[in-house]
Amino acid sequence: QQDEEKATEYLDELEFLAYTAGGEVLKRFVQKMEMPNPKTFIGSGKMDEVEEYVRENDIGTAIFDDELSPAQQKNIERILKCKIIDRTNLILDIFAQRAKTSYARTQVELAQYEYLLPRLAGMWTHLERQRGGIGMRGPGETEIETDRRIVRDRISLLKKKLAKIDRQMEVQRGNRGALVRVALVGYTNVGKSTLMNVISKSEVFAENKLFATLDTTVRKVVIGNLPFLLSDTVGFIRKLPTQLVESFKSTLDEVREADLLLHVVDISHPSFEDHIDSVNQILDEIGSSDKPVLMVFNKIDAFEPEIIESDDLVTEKTTAHYTLEEWKRTWMSRVSGDAIFISALNKENLEEFRKVVYQKVREIHITRFPYNN
Ligand code: GDP
Repeated sequence: QQDEEKATEYLDELEFLAYTAGGEVLKRFVQKMEMPNPKTFIGSGKMDEVEEYVRENDIGTAIFDDELSPAQQKNIERILKCKIIDRTNLILDIFAQRAKTSYARTQVELAQYEYLLPRLAGMWTHLERQRGGIGMRGPGETEIETDRRIVRDRISLLKKKLAKIDRQMEVQRGNRGALVRVALVGYTNVGKSTLMNVISKSEVFAENKLFATLDTTVRKVVIGNLPFLLSDTVGFIRKLPTQLVESFKSTLDEVREADLLLHVVDISHPSFEDHIDSVNQILDEIGSSDKPVLMVFNKIDAFEPEIIESDDLVTEKTTAHYTLEEWKRTWMSRVSGDAIFISALNKENLEEFRKVVYQKVREIHITRFPYNN
């Protein structure tokens, strides 16, 4: 039962990703397995079912909710005879669509080539095996090597290019002085950008300046005479491709170098607890799990509390009736230490939010500028 719910949630997300990438999902298949099949990821019975559906409905693409090995991808392609995309591929595609600055595009391109390289080899292995050893080294061999070399050259070029920009950015970050740095982090689509805009457009905002040269926005915010830097960075997602984590190193440096993290959560999402785990896992991966964190539970306007039924008595409580005190009493705030509940969209409880951020920033600020306070 629980596994089924999880599978549904995961596929909901995958469908949302597919939709974001410009696709339309017609059918979902789920298979419960201890371990994925090493050759074809799913079992042969399920594969027959999928194959029949793909054939009868003239399906162009099948998407798998995991990273497939190059061999699996090839094998499945041969059976289904349509384009096979795995989760990593899909996310890379969306990043490629979304990357606006040349820096972000370079980072995505690097991640894409690193994803491609082992698959490029996989594309040819069956030919290599067919041709066999001595006397069979034909033009195909050269082609494979040429392709691989082109991709490797491209990778090292992109890495050099990124390293250069990274150094410039490090200098830029260094120039920002000792201002306290606050980073918005969170699962994708939780409302980080909305919150960033709301904060920077408000009257407490003194200066609106873009420090960044990439898709990460850094702004100077002032609350009650206290200036600090607020950054909004790339959204996290479950199973974020490792290639992306690596090539987005500098973008994530903004998080790594932050003094305080505002972990924004979409409380109206059914899997918000999983999202918190995914974000914490990525924070751990980039070595930022020990930073002070303020949990910001957003979208309280859209939160639908469970209906408590006891015998013939049905109690329904809508968020509209939740007071701040009631929010604080929910388990969410107890679990995560410092927590705040807001709606960035409806501008609910933002005063309290500012107050809490102010207090936290001030604590850090005082340790840096002990004589000014
Ligand atoms: P990001 O990916 O974390 O930067 O999220 P965005 O700021 O782009 O917001 C994602 C979506 O959530 C947008 O459609 C927003 O309008 C919506 N959103 C943001 N904050 C709230 C909120 O407090 N309540 C509701 N209902 N929707 C919100």
